[in-house]
Amino acid sequence: MLRYFIPDAFYDSIYDIDIAEIKRSGIRGLICDIDNTLVPYEQAEPTGQVSNWIKSVRDAGIEISFVSNNGANRVDLFNRSMGFFASSSSGKPSRRQLRAAMTAMKTEPGNTAIVGDQIFTDIVAGKRLGLHCILVKPIKENMTVFFMLKRLLEKPFILIYNIKKNRKKEQR
Ligand SMILES: [Mg+2]
Repeated sequence: MLRYFIPDAFYDSIYDIDIAEIKRSGIRGLICDIDNTLVPYEQAEPTGQVSNWIKSVRDAGIEISFVSNNGANRVDLFNRSMGFFASSSSGKPSRRQLRAAMTAMKTEPGNTAIVGDQIFTDIVAGKRLGLHCILVKPIKENMTVFFMLKRLLEKPFILIYNIKKNRKKEQR
């Protein structure tokens, strides 16, 4: 049960992901959460920095797709200039739209990664399918009570992730 909540990797931001390394490890498709992973909520379209990052992922030979729990207006506008597979109101941690994204990218769980800022939606959805699950820190912390509670509940899992990582380091 616990394993569904522990990411495989945890970075400050998407820009810390070593694209060459995940390519080397066999990843051919990357499912991206949008809000607070790629851009903050109020940013309607990709920033230049995000566009460049997406380009570098594509240049590495890794397909991109967007699976968001946000509505169609937001997701379609964000994806308008790019035209990747993009799913709105995806209901993560449901697996359904992750499967649809893999079909669109022609990848499978074994060669697909997901990146997102929330353990209980992005990471759990990915773990349920056996994807490589990358957690990033939210770009801008949402200060509603609901979100603060969610972050508080995430803390023990991040702690476990850090303990595991340190243990791995010591073994090396
Ligand atoms: Mg998010």
